[in-house]
Amino acid sequence: MEPNQKKREELLKRQLEVLNKKLKEKERKIALLRKKRSFEIKEIGKFRQALMNILEDVEEARRKAEEERDLTHAIIANFADALLFFNEKNRLSLINSKAEKFFSVEKEEVVGKSLSELSSNKYFKKILGLVGSEIKSVFRAEVEMKKNFILELTTINIVAEKTKKGALMILHDVSREKLVEAMKTEFVSLAAHQLRTPLSAIKWTLRIILDGDLGEINKEQRSFLEKTYKSNERMISLINDLLNVARIEEGRFLYNPVFANLASIVENVLKSYNEQIERKEINFVFDKPQEPLSSVYVDVEKISLVIQNLIDNAIHYTPPKGNINISLKEKEKTIEFSIKDTGIGIPQDQRERIFSKFFRASNAVRAETEGSGLGLFIAKNIIEAHGGKIWFKSKEGEGSTFYFSLPIKDKRQKKV
Ligand code: ADP
Repeated sequence: MEPNQKKREELLKRQLEVLNKKLKEKERKIALLRKKRSFEIKEIGKFRQALMNILEDVEEARRKAEEERDLTHAIIANFADALLFFNEKNRLSLINSKAEKFFSVEKEEVVGKSLSELSSNKYFKKILGLVGSEIKSVFRAEVEMKKNFILELTTINIVAEKTKKGALMILHDVSREKLVEAMKTEFVSLAAHQLRTPLSAIKWTLRIILDGDLGEINKEQRSFLEKTYKSNERMISLINDLLNVARIEEGRFLYNPVFANLASIVENVLKSYNEQIERKEINFVFDKPQEPLSSVYVDVEKISLVIQNLIDNAIHYTPPKGNINISLKEKEKTIEFSIKDTGIGIPQDQRERIFSKFFRASNAVRAETEGSGLGLFIAKNIIEAHGGKIWFKSKEGEGSTFYFSLPIKDKRQKKV
């Protein structure tokens, strides 16, 4: 072999070796890349699965939220009471079918409107008159939408994370309860009227016998007849209370106001209590005001009834030899009457019910069997109908003070 050829062959061999090496290197790299890619594909697969799972969870959560929302809507829609929700801008954002029925409206025509904008509808106008254009807090009232259709209205502010989100208005139909109540009142009124006539007849017959107009009666007969007369008087007074309550509830309790001086009314009422006060040896004081009081514009007969009820109670619930003080004061455009006694007082846990119809505190029932629990109910109604206030302070076992205040009105003011 020629030396040149041998050299070339050697060169070629070396070149081939280099190429082989490079090829191996490339193959190694490809194998590595392949491995990396398959790893990446696997990772992507895992990632995809995780993503799918998340999507499924989101979908499930959305489905649940929708289900809950639909359920809430169904509850609101089928709720037996009318529900209206006003948003934070006081605009109606939700109304259920019962409310649509009560207000004779369709959802589409009212949603998005404020109460003032809705007041062209006579029913919404009534509600606006009661709650005002901005629903502020918890409020409860009765609304007579039309004759024999009475709704009980309640409003509640909806607050979340300390901010007002809106207000909910609930309207409950109480027409039936009102009708039954009216029927009951009518029955009481009718029965009381029927009872009054024979009781008056008994009263006058007893009076005639007691006055000796039908001949002499002995001491024992007199004692029995006097007891009967007193029981009859109590019955008449109870019947009168029942009639007054029935009149108040039917809105037939008429008032004939005149300008009057409360001090003279009190003095007049007191005249008939001398005997009782003496019999019970009560230390009774009427702090008559030094200066003449401003006049009040009142129904004298009704205010006398309030004072009578308060004096009756003070005497009944104060043990013999106790103290009773009446005073009258002029205070911030009102005349304040107060009657303080050293009687049995009112138990703390029963205070809220004292002005309710027929309510008698447990200690009063024990101390004094007689009593209807109607006197303070009537008194409260009379005072409030005069634009006044009635309240009390009391400590069980120590005594009570009952107050009422009436607005001052003089004749000059009346003309304005
Ligand atoms: P009653 O016929 O029972 O006196 P009222 O309506 O006048 O009815 O009073 C209701 C209740 O209030 C009484 O039964 C009694 O429990 C309580 N009460 C009223 N006045 C007094 C008072 N001066 N002292 C203690 N309790 C009183």
